Amino acid sequence: MRDPRPIEEGCNCYTCRNHSRAYLRHLFVARELLAVHLATIHNLYFIESLMQEIRSAIREERLAKLRKEWKFELS
Ligand SMILES: [Zn+2]
Repeated sequence: MRDPRPIEEGCNCYTCRNHSRAYLRHLFVARELLAVHLATIHNLYFIESLMQEIRSAIREERLAKLRKEWKFELS
C-alpha cells in the first residue's frame, strides 16, 4: 500500500515516470477513472515499445534471440 515504485521499473512512460504503484492502487480502489487512464498509458507504451523491439529484431535478424528473452512462441 505504500509501494513507491512505478508499475514497471525502467519504464519511461508518463505513468511510470510520475506515479507510484501505491497511488495507482489507491485510484483503482477508489474506482477513479484516472486509474484506467494511467494504466492504459502504460499498457500502450509497453506494447509500442515491444513492437519496436520486434521490428528491430526482425531487421537485424535476431528475432529468435529476442523470442528466447521474452519466452513467447511464434506459430
Ligand atoms: Zn510505464
